[in-house]
Amino acid sequence: MVALENTGSADAAVGMTIDVQAVSHSFELHGAPLPVLDAVDLHVEPGELVALLGPSGCGKSTLLRLIAGLEPPSLGRILADDRPITGPDPSRVVVFQDPTLYPWRTVRDNVALGLEARGLLRSQGHRVEEALALVGLTGFEKAYPHQLSGGMAQRAALARALVNDPRLLVLDEPLGKLDSLTRLAMQSELVELWRRKGFTGLLVTHDIEEALFMATRVIVFSGRPARVKADLLIDRPYPRHRGDPVLTELRHRILELLGLAETW
Ligand code: ADP
Ligand code: MG
Repeated sequence: MVALENTGSADAAVGMTIDVQAVSHSFELHGAPLPVLDAVDLHVEPGELVALLGPSGCGKSTLLRLIAGLEPPSLGRILADDRPITGPDPSRVVVFQDPTLYPWRTVRDNVALGLEARGLLRSQGHRVEEALALVGLTGFEKAYPHQLSGGMAQRAALARALVNDPRLLVLDEPLGKLDSLTRLAMQSELVELWRRKGFTGLLVTHDIEEALFMATRVIVFSGRPARVKADLLIDRPYPRHRGDPVLTELRHRILELLGLAETW
């Protein structure tokens, strides 16, 4: 394997710069505002893989939705490569915890959706096979979602995202529902994929080890409304080792930040 820099970016031009500037966001709940994000600033360089950690319900998914362009922030602004984000775009794709495949479509046809929607399937159909190969699903093109294991379904969801050749891949607890062995295997696969492709990655996870094993940087959020509590550079080369004492030390630091150090 080729040794890469710790940022892992194979080609910096591929990855997107993200600038979250003084973003606050509120929902309305029973007629009263529910503040969810509080003056969040976050700068992500092309090719970084940044993990977002924080208590459940603090606002992590909300922040991802804003970056994906699914809704505008109540306050502040978000830039992609110095341009304000005004809506969803195929260059920024999200993979959720639930693979949400269409049950009546084969794996191939699920993965082809993005190209189909953009009228590119006829001219660029080969990208479907490439995306399936990237996630190790070659040979399962004609399978239906109910014929896949949880890990395979999530790989298919990943291929459906990758077929767009995203410059930003947003992962919202993508491995959260998988059994622990599949999760460990897919953590390595995702890191390999990211290093190979060079996109910018944002990963929400509730698994501190996962964040430390995968990310170049870990952002720790407070409870709702989410504020950035810490921004930790994980300056360790890839492939990483789960027993790395530096990561163990960082894990303790993060548990402290989350108020859970006594469980260590
Ligand atoms: P996390 O991903 O960190 O667990 P979320 O961003 O999903 O948290 O949610 C943060 C808070 O915002 C939660 O209290 C949730 O109930 C609330 N929330 C999320 N989406 C909406 C919505 N569309 N309308 C009202 N409240 C919402
Ligand atoms: Mg969430």
